[in-house]
Amino acid sequence: MAGKMLKFVNTDQEMPDKRPPDTRRADWHEIYGEYIKDKAEAQAGRCSQCGVPFCQVHCPLHNNIPDWLMLTAEDRLEEAYEVSQATNTFPEICGRICPQDRLCEGNCVIEQAGHGTVTIGQIEKYITDTAWDQGWVQPIRPPRELDQSIGIIGAGPGGLAAAEMLRRKGYKIHVYDRYDRVGGLMIYGIPNFKLEKEVVQRRTAWLEDGGIVFHMNFEVGRDASLEELRGRHDALLIATGVYKARDFQAPGAGLKNVLPAMDYLTASNRKGLGDEVPAFEDGQLNAKGKNVVVIGGGDTAMDCVRTAVRQEAASVKCLYRRNRANMPGSQREVANAEEEGVEFIWQSAPEAFVGDEAVKAVRAYRMHLGAPDATGRQTPQRIENSDFTIDADIVIKALGFDPEDLPGMFGSPDLKVSRWGTLSVSWKTMMTNLDGVFAAGDIVRGASLVVWAIRDGRDAADAMHAWLKENARSAQAAAAE
Ligand SMILES: Cc1cc2nc3c(=O)[nH]c(=O)nc-3n(C[C@H](O)[C@H](O)[C@H](O)COP(=O)(O)OP(=O)(O)OC[C@H]3O[C@@H](n4cnc5c(N)ncnc54)[C@H](O)[C@@H]3O)c2cc1C
Ligand code: SF4
Repeated sequence: MAGKMLKFVNTDQEMPDKRPPDTRRADWHEIYGEYIKDKAEAQAGRCSQCGVPFCQVHCPLHNNIPDWLMLTAEDRLEEAYEVSQATNTFPEICGRICPQDRLCEGNCVIEQAGHGTVTIGQIEKYITDTAWDQGWVQPIRPPRELDQSIGIIGAGPGGLAAAEMLRRKGYKIHVYDRYDRVGGLMIYGIPNFKLEKEVVQRRTAWLEDGGIVFHMNFEVGRDASLEELRGRHDALLIATGVYKARDFQAPGAGLKNVLPAMDYLTASNRKGLGDEVPAFEDGQLNAKGKNVVVIGGGDTAMDCVRTAVRQEAASVKCLYRRNRANMPGSQREVANAEEEGVEFIWQSAPEAFVGDEAVKAVRAYRMHLGAPDATGRQTPQRIENSDFTIDADIVIKALGFDPEDLPGMFGSPDLKVSRWGTLSVSWKTMMTNLDGVFAAGDIVRGASLVVWAIRDGRDAADAMHAWLKENARSAQAAAAE
């Protein structure tokens, strides 16, 4: 599909406002503003079909972006959807929440030439949302049912991507998760203004309709050991994510209202889903009218500051020890947060939390960036006599996540982990050191992205299928002898 003409088109068209009325604020960046057909076609038509698709190379799923852009530009949306869904289990989700500025769009040749990227993520979302509206998304109907059964621990994007691919082959799929809802961090971590929960729930219903069985509120380690599950299934996939919040010790860290990010975000997401959340109702996990200080510079920190803005906090400040250029989070998220009124206090770190019972202020100091460390990143160093104090009614710690102690939790001390606590797998087979036990997603990579979890889940599914086939062949051969 190469050799297309390069088109330059005016894409500044009005988009219909499809945001729920209670979330409409002109100064907030929401994902609800949907692409209209003309805009999607015009943007897709900007793709130069350059023949060196860096966008595709830098997409973890190697999505065939040039092809589905061309089909969109030609108003062949159903075909565009077919191409797009062939490599991605959740295109409408990635279109919403991938940090495209670091992946496909950041490597678009037109962006590199200084003309502004083709809005690949928005178009991906538009194609699949349209497919849902038009009824093109077909249920999973395996050509035949197989006898083998697969257990998947974790209903996040890694586990679900594997579940889809394996179910399509006809395996019986059982997904176990300790949460009450399917989706992992897509449901309780990522806020609604970036990823509407109905979009995740629509996929859950689709997977269930395809015959995948979910066992929710089922915690492996509490409700069954890993060995018990190994006995129930022909193969297992561990896709449990990383949930041990990084912490720091400082005077006053135990004061009331110094909160871990996941507690704060989960409460907000549960509220949005219609759950009773007493700690939100009593104000503990609600930022309304409060001075909020978020500590950290990743995407979780950005989600916290932007959630606090939407809860109508009196002020929202973000404290980060490096500078803007060295922030781990998406630059687009930072820009959105700034435009929404978040104040960034760069190159500063907390020293103590001040208050009697509940926190009242954060005492912090300034830092400068010193010599690069072994990874090449400049090490922040304290500037003497640079202390300052910020008012705070809520402090949110968003310092990242590490793996939990899975061998201990699962009652499987022989399950091999890396020195970071992530599960050790062979990248070729995605198998852990336990025969027939595979792993995928954050629990293997460390905290990463939805799109990488999908990629791992799909790779693990291929590897599990190959392993199960080989096992079945060996069993047949042994029986014939
Ligand atoms: C606040 C926040 C915002 C983020 N924003 C983005 C973003 O905008 N874009 C992006 O691409 N990525 C984002 N990420 C990262 C992304 O969500 C993760 O990389 C991705 O969800 C990892 O998928 P996973 O399937 O490996 O794990 P998870 O999504 O974490 O799912 C793991 C599942 O395993 C279950 N589980 C864990 N232990 C057990 C057990 N013992 N028994 C049973 N079940 C268990 C959990 O309940 C969970 O449902 C964000 C992360 C956070 C924390
Ligand atoms: S999956 Fe993510 S990186 Fe790949 S094309 Fe879609 S938005 Fe870009």
